[in-house]
Amino acid sequence: MDQQQQELVTMVRNFMNREIKPHIREFEEAGGYPDHLVQMGKDMGLTVMQVPERYGGLELSTTTTAMMLEEGAKVESTYISMFNITNMGAKIVMFAGSEAQKEYYAGILADGGMSSFCLTEPGAGSDAASVRTTAVRKGDKYIINGNKMFITNASIADVFLVVASTDLSKGYKGLATFIVERNRPGVAVGKKEDKLGMRLSITAEVAFQDVEIPVENLVGTEETGFVNAMKVLELSRPLVAASSVGSSQQAIDLAVKYSQERVQFGQPICKFEAIQMMLADMQMRTSAARALVYNACALIDAGLPCSKEAAMAKCYAADAYQKNATDAVQIMGGYGVMKEYMAEKLYRDSKITQIVEGTNQIQRMVIAKQMIRENKI
Ligand SMILES: Cc1cc2nc3c(=O)[nH]c(=O)nc-3n(C[C@H](O)[C@H](O)[C@H](O)COP(=O)(O)OP(=O)(O)OC[C@H]3O[C@@H](n4cnc5c(N)ncnc54)[C@H](O)[C@@H]3O)c2cc1C
Repeated sequence: MDQQQQELVTMVRNFMNREIKPHIREFEEAGGYPDHLVQMGKDMGLTVMQVPERYGGLELSTTTTAMMLEEGAKVESTYISMFNITNMGAKIVMFAGSEAQKEYYAGILADGGMSSFCLTEPGAGSDAASVRTTAVRKGDKYIINGNKMFITNASIADVFLVVASTDLSKGYKGLATFIVERNRPGVAVGKKEDKLGMRLSITAEVAFQDVEIPVENLVGTEETGFVNAMKVLELSRPLVAASSVGSSQQAIDLAVKYSQERVQFGQPICKFEAIQMMLADMQMRTSAARALVYNACALIDAGLPCSKEAAMAKCYAADAYQKNATDAVQIMGGYGVMKEYMAEKLYRDSKITQIVEGTNQIQRMVIAKQMIRENKI
C-alpha cells in the first residue's frame, strides 16, 4: 500500500469501528443507516471516490477503492458499497458521456448527491438485453416508460442512470443509457424490499411513467446502452468482490476467536483437527479471492481488458464468502445461529453476493466464453 492507500484504509477502519460497529444490529432492525451517517460518508467525499479530480472527485484508482471496500466489509459490507454504487453511474458518464454531462453528473455527486444504476426489470435479470423500458424521442425530449427492479440506493438517490430501449425491435442494439433526475414528474420509488440479508442496503423498485428528459440526457448513442452497461459491470465486479473478501475475513476472525474461547471435551475447540481443517480452508479461500480481486483491479487501473478476470474475482470471492460464512456458523455451533453473534448475519448477507452484479452462473459463462475466445483453433 502507498501512503494514500494506508491513510484511506485507516480512515475507513476507524470510521467503521467507531460509527457503525457498535450499532449494526440497531441499524439492521431500523432497516438502514441514519441520515447523519450517510452524510458523514458524503463529507468524506465517498460520492465521488472514483470521479476524476478535474470534475471535483477524489480520482481513486480501482485498487485503492477495492482496499477501502475490503476494509469496510470487515465490519459491514453495505456502507462503503452504497457509495461505490453511486460511483457506477458516474463511470458510465465518464467513459461514454459528453463534457457537459461529465460536469453535470459529477457536480450532482460532488454536492453530496447519491445515484443508482437501473438495469434490472421484472422480465430482464440475467438476460439484460431483454430490457423493456422504453425511451421514445419526441422533438428535443425522450419520454421514458418502464419499471426497474431491485435498485440499490433507490430511495436515497438524487439521480438515476437508466438503461432503456429506443427501439424494441433492435434488441440489445436498441438499448441506450440516460441520466434521469429523481425530481422529474413521473419518477416513483417503490417501498423498500424486505430482504434475507444486506438489510442495511436499500433495495427498491423505480417506476418511470411518461418521464420527460431532454435529449442532452442521452449518454453515448442510442445504440450503446448495452455496451455501456456491460462495461460498467465489468469495472464494478472486482469491487463487489473486494467487499466479499473483507466479509470473508470477518467470518474468519469470528471463527478463529470463538474456536480459541470455546471449550469442549476439556480443551478449546481450535485444538480439534476437524476445526483446524475448516479454518485453514477459510483462510486459503479468502487469500485466493483477494489475489483474484487485486489482479483484476490492476488490469483495470492499467486500462487492460479484464472481463474474465473481473468475473473470476466476483464469482470466486462470493462463493468463498458464502462458504466461509457457512463454516463460521458451523464452528460456532448453536451460538452461530444466534443474533448475539455476527456469523448468522454474514450467513444471510453472503448469499446475496452470489446473485448481484450478475449471478455466479453468469460469471462462469463469461469466464468460459472468454477462455474459448482466447483459444482459437
Ligand atoms: C440486493 C440486490 C441488489 C440489486 N441491485 C441492483 C441495482 O442496483 N441495479 C440493477 O440494475 N439490478 C440490481 N439487482 C438485480 C441483480 O443484478 C439481478 O437480481 C441479477 O442480475 C439476477 O437477475 P434475476 O434476479 O432476475 O434472476 P434470473 O436472471 O431470473 O435468474 C434466475 C436463476 O437462473 C439462472 N440463470 C439465468 N440465466 C441463465 C443462463 N443463461 N445460464 C445459467 N443459469 C442462468 C441465474 O443464475 C439464477 O440462478 C440487485 C439484486 C439484488 C438481490
